[in-house]
Amino acid sequence: MKILQPSPENIVSTARAIQSGRVVVIPTETVYGLACHALDSRAVQHVFEIKGRPPDNPLIVHIGSFDQLVDITEVVPPAAKALASRFWPGPLTLVLPKRPTVPYCTTGGLDTVAVRVPRHPVALAVIKESGCPVAAPSANLFTRLSPTSAHEIDPAILCQVDMVLDGGQCEIGLESTVLDLTSDEPIVLRPGAVTRADIQAVLGRPLGSGPPSSVRKSPGQYARHYAPRAQVKLVDRVPVGQPGLTLDRPADERQIRMPADPAAYAANLYRSLQRLDETGTEDIFVELPPRDPEWEAVHDRLKKASTWA
Ligand code: AMP
Ligand code: MG
Repeated sequence: MKILQPSPENIVSTARAIQSGRVVVIPTETVYGLACHALDSRAVQHVFEIKGRPPDNPLIVHIGSFDQLVDITEVVPPAAKALASRFWPGPLTLVLPKRPTVPYCTTGGLDTVAVRVPRHPVALAVIKESGCPVAAPSANLFTRLSPTSAHEIDPAILCQVDMVLDGGQCEIGLESTVLDLTSDEPIVLRPGAVTRADIQAVLGRPLGSGPPSSVRKSPGQYARHYAPRAQVKLVDRVPVGQPGLTLDRPADERQIRMPADPAAYAANLYRSLQRLDETGTEDIFVELPPRDPEWEAVHDRLKKASTWA
């Protein structure tokens, strides 16, 4: 079996596999990541092939500490320093000008690189042991749901990787916030657990507004993404007798009651959609959560999961 417990020996062998250009799956606090040496073009190419991901969709580079940032990026602006000291290790990805050592296949042809320090202890241990920057996009097939536990990983991914480290259920359950620091104003390219308000509080100034220019700057942002096989339908109330995610008392056993707190909702979203998807249903109805700012990342993923194109 390729799914391994994260013992010290297995962490070392996973790090060795990464060093030697192989592809593995590691847990992070956001979602499980398909991990490889970020500066090894062949390994990165392999990650794109396994996921079926278009080559212009850049990967996030994971490092073990803030000090490693200078190996990857040309400059470390004061804003990056301030945000990193507040949110790293954690689910905030910063986009900065790349160093020539970072291959274009990792950055989808861009002169910028997206980078973060994850806070899952297993991810950190593997990255530190490997001694290299680690590219780790979500361990799903392109446009599908990201796995938030080892047993949610698609068999089509499992059969193509060297090993999987089981780090339990992901604490956050949604992909990281992506913040572009290469323009005059910082722009959120993808909302996540670190909110606009969190970022603004550190920077002490307003953020630029996306997304029109940021869509061009972040080519991996596709309309349909993070989606189950079934059609997700966003509704005010899940119809009686239909499968779905409710915020209220479920009418039957095919309806899942979601937490009222946005962080807990996010942590349960993908696995709940996956659970309903496994029943072979054609539709999954999702009751729209409140519109408050702390729900922004959940709304972003629900919108993408429900887009049918
Ligand atoms: P994933 O690795 O699946 O979590 O997705 C990473 C996402 O981060 C990409 O789809 C892009 O939207 C964004 N991203 C990564 N690198 C860059 C970059 N250099 N510039 C802008 N956005 C990026
Ligand atoms: Mg992804």
